[in-house]
Amino acid sequence: MGVAGAAIIGCVESSANEQITSGSLLPSQTTQEFPVIVSTWNHGIAANRSAIEKLNQGGTILDAVEAGVRVTESDANNQSVGLGGLPDRDGNVTLDACIMNHLSQCGAVSFLQNIENPISVARKVMEDTPHVMLSGKGALEFAIDKGFTESNLLTEESSLAWEKWKLQSKYNPQINSENHDTIGMLGIDKNGELAGACTTSGMAYKLHGRVGDSPIIGAGLFVDGEVGAACATGVGEAVIRIAGSAIVVELMRGGATPEEACKEAVNRIIRKHDDLTNLQVGFLALDKFGRSGGYSVYGGFNYAHATASGNEMIDAKYMKEW
Ligand code: ASP
Repeated sequence: MGVAGAAIIGCVESSANEQITSGSLLPSQTTQEFPVIVSTWNHGIAANRSAIEKLNQGGTILDAVEAGVRVTESDANNQSVGLGGLPDRDGNVTLDACIMNHLSQCGAVSFLQNIENPISVARKVMEDTPHVMLSGKGALEFAIDKGFTESNLLTEESSLAWEKWKLQSKYNPQINSENHDTIGMLGIDKNGELAGACTTSGMAYKLHGRVGDSPIIGAGLFVDGEVGAACATGVGEAVIRIAGSAIVVELMRGGATPEEACKEAVNRIIRKHDDLTNLQVGFLALDKFGRSGGYSVYGGFNYAHATASGNEMIDAKYMKEW
């Protein structure tokens, strides 16, 4: 049993009290109540709900984070993850995802097309192959072989947005505050076991073939059963350059709280970039004590925090005003 196991407060209830609140330090950030599920952005509320339900049904923490982010992947109204994701500059929806448990077992897919739930393919890579990542056509063939069905993920709304973008874009890949909303989810169960999942359609209107941080273990997601877990959202190239999520976990290993670790990772990104225009990155972390925290370069990054007794949005602190 992990350290967390000594601090259990009761079992999981299905009727979570959900609310949207602001403020950078809520009691729930330091609670010793288990399980704890945290996930990036507003879509995290629905994803957390599904993760908690999965635990209530007897699922493992890995089952829970997979189930949680699948909700976001299958939400056609969400234009940054899975179905309905904004396409690359040539009109292709290409997906990146990874999943990791407390034993450092992990799986990932990158540049995957036409599969609605890439996180479940990533889990199959983890459990059914000796590899960590499959990419592109090979990942698609593997998914089909495993029984996943192909479908068109480009919704009418996203297609229209792409057509509009083409009119003014000059085909420059770009990122702004509206188009980076990867879901990263971290969880710890009542036994202190950790897991994480991360899934995205990536930077909108990117170059065809571009892969971001989200499927890269150590960049978009990292879990260490002895320490905690971290995930990232925002400009993936900046996250990769500092091995972002692995750094956050290592900072926690050195004694930093989740928020302090995320803040230092944000500081590293700021130090390494002369031009911070539109360079939004947010980190989210959860330690083995069930404490969580986030930090971002610019304001606006938030995350959903769920326990047995609630599911609420928390605004992360940040370094710079837009
Ligand atoms: N990190 C993702 C990427 O660079 C974007 C996002 O967070 O939505 O692909």
